Amino acid sequence: MDFELTQEQQLLKKNIGDFAREELAPLVREIDEKEGFSWEVWGKLASLGILGLPAPEEYGGEGVEDLLTQVIVIEELARYDFSSAANLTSNWAIIRKLKEDGTKEHKARYLERLCKGEVVGSFAQTEPDSGSDVSSLRTNARYENGNYILNGDKVFVTQAGEAEFTIVAARINEEDGKKGAISMFLVERDRPGYILGEKEAKLGFRGSTTRSLALNDCMIPASNLLGEKGKGLKTALRGLANGRLLTAAQALGQAQAALDESIKYSKERTQFGRPIGQFQLVQAKLADMAIGLESARYLTYYAAWLRDNDKPFAIYSSMAKTLATDVAMKAAVEAVQIFGGYGFMRDQPVESIMRNVKITQIYEGTNEIQRLIIARELLGETRSFRELYGQK
Ligand SMILES: Cc1cc2nc3c(=O)[nH]c(=O)nc-3n(C[C@H](O)[C@H](O)[C@H](O)COP(=O)(O)OP(=O)(O)OC[C@H]3O[C@@H](n4cnc5c(N)ncnc54)[C@H](O)[C@@H]3O)c2cc1C
Repeated sequence: MDFELTQEQQLLKKNIGDFAREELAPLVREIDEKEGFSWEVWGKLASLGILGLPAPEEYGGEGVEDLLTQVIVIEELARYDFSSAANLTSNWAIIRKLKEDGTKEHKARYLERLCKGEVVGSFAQTEPDSGSDVSSLRTNARYENGNYILNGDKVFVTQAGEAEFTIVAARINEEDGKKGAISMFLVERDRPGYILGEKEAKLGFRGSTTRSLALNDCMIPASNLLGEKGKGLKTALRGLANGRLLTAAQALGQAQAALDESIKYSKERTQFGRPIGQFQLVQAKLADMAIGLESARYLTYYAAWLRDNDKPFAIYSSMAKTLATDVAMKAAVEAVQIFGGYGFMRDQPVESIMRNVKITQIYEGTNEIQRLIIARELLGETRSFRELYGQK
């Protein structure tokens, strides 16, 4: 067993950390207050050359396929700037979708510009009445004379309004909107009938723009079908196994930040004549944070290693997502407690960790859904689950 990161991974981690601490961290608070995606920050990430990390080199990417390296980048970025890490995760998911399912023309149209940071994309699957139960989605795509006409409502679309295009999950051809198989479509923002809602006000992850999206007789050419007709759900769920590990990485970075800040404060803050870090109840909190963080980190790295070595990893991905995000939420709450009343204040570093981390327990499949997936595997009920979730 080799637990050592490669020299390249160590160097990348250091570069990302130095960059994020110096260039991004100073902007985080202002962006959180203003709420919304920052093109300034996106430009900085572009200059670092990581927007297209997993994209093929011929499209201006770095061609870094291995998930462990991707996890390390997201984790280190999230330590200093949660929104950037989450936005980058979303950019990579869109790149991966285009890379795996896009035609030559789709790739030529978007990949290079996504890698350069000239455009961002968005992904719209969730609907007002279809969240965890993805298979109940109703958005409909009707085929007519070489075009698809889309109708339906999407919610919680990250980067909607900033994005040049949206990958929309919809059912083909069924008038009742219930039975047709789910497919994916590229919908450009300037298509008539592509109607954005107001920007949502959020608890955390405020360096992103979230809106609803209505598709109202929105016509796109049939060539905008992304991937095989009717295979949209399967490919989306397969992508989730990767996405979940990157969500775990977001949580690890924030848990590390919670621990860093808590250690610092425990040495600085004096009560009853001594630093609070000398009280055993505070020490126990620090120790528990570190235990949780290290356990979650190694499960996450292990799951990424399984994927990179072409072994079944989807269940481990669900386990890592659940553990890392739960550990991070607990660490964030304890960090606020260690800071006492100051922890509750906006100008202190830990309250935003608590607000940001919450989303990691919800998106990419809630932790309840992860537990269901894991339990069904344990109970041997998972043949179809294995297929759905891409496990070999
Ligand atoms: C900030 C943000 C960004 C997002 N970005 C995107 C995006 O870009 N694109 C996109 O398509 N979606 C996005 N989402 C949507 C996100 O993926 C969903 O919110 C998530 O999948 C949960 O769906 P829901 O909110 O409808 O909750 P629901 O599915 O209604 O769940 C409500 C509660 O019930 C629980 N629950 C549901 N079913 C079960 C069950 N069978 N057993 C036990 N418990 C259950 C859930 O775990 C949860 O606690 C985003 C959401 C947020 C908040």
